[in-house]
Amino acid sequence: MNHDQAFWLPYTANRAFWKSPRVIKAARGHYYTADDGQQLLDAFSGLWTSGLGHCHPAIVSAVQEQVATLDYSMGFQVTNDRAIALAREVADLAPAGLDRVFFTNSGSESADTALKIALAYHRARGEGQRTRLIGRERGYHGVNFGGMSVGGIPGNRKVFSAVMLPGVDHIRHTYSHADMAFSRGQPTWGCDLAEDLERVVALHDASNIAALIVEPVSGSTGILVPPIGYLQRLREICDKHGILLIFDEVITAFGRVGAPFAAARFGVTPDIITTAKGLTNGVVPMGAVIVREEIYQALMQGPDNAVELFHGYTYSGHPLAAAAGLAAMKVYREEDSFARALALEPVFEEAIHALKGEPHVIDIRNFGLMGGIELAPRPGAPGARGYEVFLKCFEAGVVIRNGGDILQFSPFLDSTPDELTRIFETVRDALRAVA
Ligand code: PMP
Repeated sequence: MNHDQAFWLPYTANRAFWKSPRVIKAARGHYYTADDGQQLLDAFSGLWTSGLGHCHPAIVSAVQEQVATLDYSMGFQVTNDRAIALAREVADLAPAGLDRVFFTNSGSESADTALKIALAYHRARGEGQRTRLIGRERGYHGVNFGGMSVGGIPGNRKVFSAVMLPGVDHIRHTYSHADMAFSRGQPTWGCDLAEDLERVVALHDASNIAALIVEPVSGSTGILVPPIGYLQRLREICDKHGILLIFDEVITAFGRVGAPFAAARFGVTPDIITTAKGLTNGVVPMGAVIVREEIYQALMQGPDNAVELFHGYTYSGHPLAAAAGLAAMKVYREEDSFARALALEPVFEEAIHALKGEPHVIDIRNFGLMGGIELAPRPGAPGARGYEVFLKCFEAGVVIRNGGDILQFSPFLDSTPDELTRIFETVRDALRAVA
């Protein structure tokens, strides 16, 4: 057969896509160029990946230089200087006490790596019965079996429900329209939802529970912002019961919430942080798991020093990815990106909340440079309205993301107020057109 449409797009209605494909051929700064030459303002920083803008010259030249110097180095027993240097920088940036960095190639791999580290840690300390894992309803931790199991997005789980990891519970998410709709930043209502963790602990006994994984601010499920005090309360309950707290910061790290990590912004230090995306500004795939020193040390105290963690990837610490990561860290520093993002947050908040009252808008949520506009679903066709708004915006030259009927925004860390105005004016026009 003709293989022009052999490419199977992830998370996409492929049949619809191939009727009118949207193909990007170049990008620079805040704009994509489509294959027909159309200039598109990117309102999503890639896929939460590229906060510094596309094809940042410093990252491009670092990768070019690296590929011509060292293309690959064996990852087991041997490593490369770039990976060592990047681990140091990431640990320097991480909350105090999180001193060890394990490299992966994606957010999904980071989630599964973190869960395995949690189990190995308890076992190394003689608490091998601590195997249960806890996630949240609507949580997203990637698509591998571990992350999918602790994740809570029904559509992602449906087909695979028979083969999820055993011993997983989901606590409630921090979501309730009635009490929280149109909150700006952190909702004042809902801190008590953290107590749902005590329910699960009581059900299974803490001595059987290994870890809780949460996104500090949930992204893909539609920008769910933690109520004031909620993450602090989760931390307290985990401490009380010896449960490891994992923050999935695949989206929230590296400036997205105006800080190096959401942990710093919220003043809550987890035991393990997972990251990806902004680690290399999306330029080369890479993820990382940042681990509290005590956890690492527990795994170093085994009876022999042969292999402390039977886990890793062919491309863990890949030199090209690490070079991109090092260049990204340098740019974050030199451009003061995290502080700029924080300064832009109120402008972004005003711009997105200006759409309150537009057709079908039932909620608007924001934190850092993450924002969501939730639309009432069209009866009998959930997601259709969000998709139509996405298409209208694309036609008008602005790339947003729709997660079903929730429009999602993730502007660049150095977006201009004018760009934000253009983005939300385009969305407003699209909402009116679709209405
Ligand atoms: N965790 C979170 C919080 C994410 O947002 C994502 C991706 N959007 C992932 C994990 C999975 O990352 P990847 O697609 O790189 O596997």
